[in-house]
Order: sequence, then structure tokens, then C-alpha cells
Amino acid sequence: MKILVLNSGSSSIKFQLLTMPSEQVVCSGMVERIGSEISILRIKTETQNIKEEYSLKTHKDGLQKIVDLLLDPEKGVIQKPNEINAVGHRVVHGGDSFADTTLITPEVKEEIMEFATLAPLHNPHNLQGIQVSEQLFPQAEQVAVFDTAFHQTIPVKARKYAIPNTFYSEYGIQAYGFHGTSHKYVSEKAMAHLKKEKSKIISIHLGNGCSMTAVRNGKSVDHSLGFAPSNGLIMGSRSGDIDHSLIFHLVDTLGYKLEEVNQMLNRKSGMLGLTGYNDLRDIQSEAENGNLDCLLALEMNAYRVKKYIGAYAAAMNGLDAIVFTAGIGENSSLLRKMVCSHMEYLGVRFDDVKNESGSGSIFEINADGSEVKVLVIATNEELEIAKQAYSVLSTG
Ligand code: ADP
Repeated sequence: MKILVLNSGSSSIKFQLLTMPSEQVVCSGMVERIGSEISILRIKTETQNIKEEYSLKTHKDGLQKIVDLLLDPEKGVIQKPNEINAVGHRVVHGGDSFADTTLITPEVKEEIMEFATLAPLHNPHNLQGIQVSEQLFPQAEQVAVFDTAFHQTIPVKARKYAIPNTFYSEYGIQAYGFHGTSHKYVSEKAMAHLKKEKSKIISIHLGNGCSMTAVRNGKSVDHSLGFAPSNGLIMGSRSGDIDHSLIFHLVDTLGYKLEEVNQMLNRKSGMLGLTGYNDLRDIQSEAENGNLDCLLALEMNAYRVKKYIGAYAAAMNGLDAIVFTAGIGENSSLLRKMVCSHMEYLGVRFDDVKNESGSGSIFEINADGSEVKVLVIATNEELEIAKQAYSVLSTG
């Protein structure tokens, strides 16, 4: 079965075509800057690396271009659109309606649109991807995989805010959690590695967006992102945890507009706000050259992660493994070391050499005999989406 995985963002569509259940990647790529004068289409197949420029005004134009290239007699990988049996869509917000991956029906689309009020930057684009894909692949099954689904198991005591009950019951105000596909994928890999079904794992996803999940016996029981993807850890350009009263101070006392504060907290804060750099590689090399803002930002970042590790170990009454994943988690040995040093009280004994030299899709960076394993696991959200779509289709 061939499954096309689509991740439709505001101005981009990422895609991957996989053969399932063998998990073989036929091709992958993305269209960027949809709506700009020049859009870029990249596609990687087993034999080619293609980059082409077009003017693509809409998501439909973008997806059509991807399909044209997939079908191209010379550069393509399939002969007819109906070779694609299913399309798996990443959908950011499934509210509290979707605890699992689901076949897309008109009712499901309506709900995805309803949850657009909770994820205005994501769900409308995800839905657009679904609508365009239905037109281009009318014979394929369309499947939605929700970022929020994995976190539906978080108990109410951990997901509810201590504000009047009506906000929860009438408006669904609660912590929904995000990055669920990634946390599910890496925590399952960690469980297989531990060879333990009953396990207490903390999964740390550090990319542009950053989050942590406490995973007990394979289920998410707490998570650092909340109602929106802005709570918790210090991210590329988002602040993570702040005292909400600073918003009122900025607006009421200092005269900022609410929208300016929103932009500041989501787009100008985090590592960018602290250092002027968004990319951790730049921040690390600046810190090495003596830039004190960069050094402090790294310390703040690692400290925040460390605090959440302590909180989640307490929530689970113990810990078997810590997992680092995503762009920063998989690549920054420096941040991993800053997080994991001085955690002997928890049973973590770190190994510097393994941390520096480890490679591959999964490796340990704890010392031999460490009570708690520290693992680096490459996340693969596209594969997880394809696996879940395949599972929904094969179980009926
Ligand atoms: P996204 O959340 O967009 O999927 P990624 O998981 O791809 O993000 O992570 C992107 C971030 O990973 C970059 O902003 C960069 O800071 C960081 N990163 C990538 N490679 C390295 C590296 N070799 N060392 C340190 N940080 C890295």
C-alpha cells in the first residue's frame, strides 16, 4: 500500500510517499513559500535531489505541482494518481473529540473546522490540504492524524486550569498538548529499547517548537504545551512559561497593543529574544566565542528542561528513561549535557564520550549501570502518520 503523508502549513506543504507496511520511503520533499512570487519545490527520491522554482498562488497549486512531479515520466515515482491508496494528513488540533487517528468524513472535516478557533494558525491550512487532496486523489482514503490525540490520556487534574469551571465545560479551555505524533513515536521506540512494558519515560522534543511529555506505560500523563503551543519550555521564538500578569502590565501600564504582545511572546521571544539568533547552532558558536547573552540563554533553556524533568519524575513516582529528540535534541550534545549533568539524585549517570560520539537513529548517552537510561532517538513524524493511517485502514 502506498501512503502519501501531507503536512500542510500556512505557506508550505511537506510530503512523504511511503510503501507500507515495509516503511520504505519512495520520496519526500516540500513546497515552500506558497503565495509568494517565487515558491520552491524540493523533492528527494532514491536517485534524485530536485529543486525547482514556480509561482504557486494557493495550496491547490502547490499540491498539484507535487502531484505533477510525482507523475512526471522522467523524474516521477508513480504512473497514475490511483497508485496512492491513502493520504495521511497531519492535523494539529483535534480538541477533545479525537483520541485516535480517524478516517476523514464530512463530519470529521466539520469538527476540524470547529477546532480552528483553538488553532487558527494551523487547522485551516490542514483542512485546506485535506480538501485539495480529496480533489486530486478521489480514489484514495483520507486519514487524519491529530497532534493532540496522544495527550487525550492526560488526567483532568493535569489538563484543567484553575479558573472558573464554566471555561472548561462551556468553552473547552484546558491544556490539549501538541507534538503528540513525535512523542508517541519516540516513546514507543524507547519502550522497545528498554524491553519493558511498564515504564516511566520523559520524552523531550526540542526543535523550533519544544515540549516535554511524561509517558507512563505508553500513555501521555502530562505535557508541557498547553491550550496553545506556547507554554512550558523556552523555544526558538516563543517564551514558554511566563507569569500572565506581565501581559496586563504591558498593555494596561506600558501601553502596548495586545497584538504586539502576542507577536512579541510568540515570534520575538525564546532563544531569539534572548540572543538575537533563532538557530541553536549560531547560539552555541556565539557562546563558545564568549557571547554572554548566548551562554545565559543556553543555561536558561537547560534549566527549564531540568525543572520539568524533576516535575515529571515526581508526577510518575520514578523514571526509567529520558529521551531527547528533534533538531536540537538529536544534535546538540552541549544542551543534552547541560540538562543531564547534576541529576545523580534521580539515578541519571551521564556519559560524556557517548554523548559526543553517539550516532544513528537511537543511541544511549548514559553511563553503564545508570539507573535511568538517557536516549537520543530520531523522531519521524511522517513515518508515524503513515503507520497510523495504515493501521486504521488495515483494521477496517
Ligand atoms: P521543527 O520544529 O521546525 O520541526 P526541527 O526539529 O527541525 O524543527 O529543529 C530545528 C532546530 O534544530 C533548528 O532551529 C536548530 O536550532 C536545531 N539544530 C539543527 N541541527 C543542529 C545541530 N547540529 N546542532 C544544534 N542544533 C541544531
